[in-house]
Amino acid sequence: MPVVVKFASALSVLAPGSITNEATMLDQRQAKMRSLSPDVLQGRQLLGNLLPNEVEALFQQWDQPRYRAAQLLHGYYAERHTNLLEISTLPRSLRQRCAETFITMPLALQAQQRASDGTIKLLFELLDGTRIESVLIPSEMASGRQRRTLCISTQAGCPLGCVFCATASLKLRRNLETAEIVGQFLAAERLCNERITNVVFMGMGEPLLNYEAVVRAIKIMTCERWQLIAPRHLTLSTAGIVPAIERLATEDVSVKLALSLHATTDELRRRLMPIARRWSLDELLSAVEGYYRVTRRAVTYEYILFDRLNDSDADFRRLLKIARRVPSKVNVIPFHPIDFTHPEGIAAQLRPTPPERMQQFVAALRSAGIPTMVRSSSGLEIAAACGQLALAMQ
Ligand code: SF4
Repeated sequence: MPVVVKFASALSVLAPGSITNEATMLDQRQAKMRSLSPDVLQGRQLLGNLLPNEVEALFQQWDQPRYRAAQLLHGYYAERHTNLLEISTLPRSLRQRCAETFITMPLALQAQQRASDGTIKLLFELLDGTRIESVLIPSEMASGRQRRTLCISTQAGCPLGCVFCATASLKLRRNLETAEIVGQFLAAERLCNERITNVVFMGMGEPLLNYEAVVRAIKIMTCERWQLIAPRHLTLSTAGIVPAIERLATEDVSVKLALSLHATTDELRRRLMPIARRWSLDELLSAVEGYYRVTRRAVTYEYILFDRLNDSDADFRRLLKIARRVPSKVNVIPFHPIDFTHPEGIAAQLRPTPPERMQQFVAALRSAGIPTMVRSSSGLEIAAACGQLALAMQ
């Protein structure tokens, strides 16, 4: 029960009207407490927090024409200037004013680990000392084209407590700012000197519990003027926040939806993911169907295979039924043990499904016509389990 109360609290900012005004005010206070403290900014602003129309409005206050705002943002996002004094299209005095007003680097690299398969895990420190992770994962597509996927964090820590997840043991420190979400992309491309082809909001945190900042980040990253990433290459992965999925379907943003499913019965899902105590699988799958009906974008179901827990023939049949409800793909993920978090209860019993059984499971899905990918065990030797590096550096 306390778990449900906590979720209701976190969610009320997402669904005004569904709760009392008093609760809304309380939650807004909590949400504010959980953002970056304005004291850290010392009167300056994070440039990456502002949408283009907001920069234009600010420039209007400065008696600057609209096109100057476009020049600033082009310099920042397309030309990747972090020193705004270097944006030569702006008059010198305006460059100076921008440099004094805006913070362009909201994170700094603290550590990185590189695996033999090219996976790079990046640990960033934010302006207030909070630490978050991003992971850059290379892969080769069937066409032979190289793909470089950046897994981005949306919260520092996470309040959802999924038993298989290292980030869960960090608890929620705070929500990330839009600039800190987009900043992971800009910093990763700069640090690795590579073009990122795909982005997944699948790092630390539940993106839909930091709804406003995440939607703004999607708008900035997919903005046609500089298009950091094409909308079809941007995926948001959620543990299943039903009202937020419904709301996301109505937003003027383009993003693919992935659902961390991991179980095909309410009973098991509730044991693995406490959020499932708040919404049943029926409610969740209806929201996912609704998302598909509005957006017409195929949905991805993520499914970590746990030995003798969710890998039986009966699980396969239920998963198939779910995957056939709307056009979808299944992403099968080998379990990365999290023994370093000293798990207890069901978490201590989790083991990866043996490779042979995993292959059978995947082959059965494919032969039933469900596009099925197997997430590579990228960076096992650098501990790619989300949250692990941040935990180790505590
Ligand atoms: S799996 Fe995702 S939603 Fe669940 S605790 Fe970890 S970060 Fe949070």
